[in-house]
Amino acid sequence: MNTLPRSVLHALDPKGVGTGQTESLLSYFCRLAVSHAVSTTDLARFVVQQVDHDIRRDFEWQQRNLSGVSEAARSWAAWLSALTGVGHLDGLTLSKWSAVLPPRGLAPRNHWCPHCLREDKEAGRSPYFRLSWEVGPVKACHQHKSKLVDTCPHCGQRHVRHHGGVVVPGWCTRCGGFLGEGESEAAEPHDLWVARQVEDWIANQPNQMAVLDAGTVLTTLNTLIVGLDGGQYTRFAKRLGLAKSVVHGWLRKGGLPSLDAYLAMAGHAGLSLNRVLRGDLADWEPHGTEMQLGIEFDLLAGGKRETPRQHDWAAIRGELERLLKLPEPISVAEAGRRLGIDDRHLYLRANDLARALGERWKQYLASRKAENLTLARAQLRAALPTIVGAGRPFNLTEVRQLVSAPILASVEGMFGLIREIREE
Ligand SMILES: [Zn+2]
Ligand SMILES: [Zn+2]
Repeated sequence: MNTLPRSVLHALDPKGVGTGQTESLLSYFCRLAVSHAVSTTDLARFVVQQVDHDIRRDFEWQQRNLSGVSEAARSWAAWLSALTGVGHLDGLTLSKWSAVLPPRGLAPRNHWCPHCLREDKEAGRSPYFRLSWEVGPVKACHQHKSKLVDTCPHCGQRHVRHHGGVVVPGWCTRCGGFLGEGESEAAEPHDLWVARQVEDWIANQPNQMAVLDAGTVLTTLNTLIVGLDGGQYTRFAKRLGLAKSVVHGWLRKGGLPSLDAYLAMAGHAGLSLNRVLRGDLADWEPHGTEMQLGIEFDLLAGGKRETPRQHDWAAIRGELERLLKLPEPISVAEAGRRLGIDDRHLYLRANDLARALGERWKQYLASRKAENLTLARAQLRAALPTIVGAGRPFNLTEVRQLVSAPILASVEGMFGLIREIREE
């Protein structure tokens, strides 16, 4: 087996994994830049170059929610896992929930809990941003029972948490003052409940191995509408304070409830947010409602509970080991295609093997490039007397007729090579 390539970027340990204090990917990204003593902009550019992804070169990382539900979050997690050698970085995002939560509505935020930052610093740890602070409905820190804040206590400015070329989590990007020095007010009870639900949900993320899909949402909605409102979705909508067309959209048009809506459902059903989002309602007993099957019941399509799909990672690792031994190296993307798995998941869940595959592929490409260059040089040398003998100029147009197209396409700097041969 190939030896594991050394990681390109420092293998920083993500903080607070498996707790409500889990670090956000945005925070991890900023700390990584600090650890390499480069600006966040430079690190973003470097990552994009390394992964050679089809992405705009002027990509503004601050405009994206790196820690959210979107495809961008999953890609950044996979890229950083590939480059640091630290797997499972998608646990610092909410991207595992993309099948049940809409991508919008979790806009990048600028809030923090000063007490959390202060405790980090006093304990001699690097202060970091919590994933829960990035979640739209969260307005409080459950641990410190206080409101999150968004204004620097020193310069009074907002948008100073991570907006800047150099971001050291915990310090104002405008004036450099420590953001853990301010005070914050006591939180409202409802905000504390929301914070606790979200922190519990985040703490349980590492246990979420089953693959959720749109069927999970429908099953959950069916169970709750039947259990709480006897199958009447109009009553259910009213209970949540939503227009019935919204709930109809979830049931019939593939719409996904917002996190606020899931929180409302959890509150009404006496369930945790974690269970509602996972669709873990098997032993839920609604209380205080009688079953009345109304005319709307036929709207609740196929309420059969399906077992969520689960990847067998031991078997997948076996397959990856086999692919690593193929005589002709393949890319991680190709391995993903052959196994029917998003190649980002290979970097996130089988990091060592994915990186070994990637390294083998890179070396293969490099050696193929060198071979092509040798071939091109030989073909050009052979073509030179023919072209010059016929009294034609030795340039790219002429060379094209005599050198094979794949070789031409694979050699960078053909002009330079032509000049080199001519001068010889
Ligand atoms: Zn706190
Ligand atoms: Zn400031």
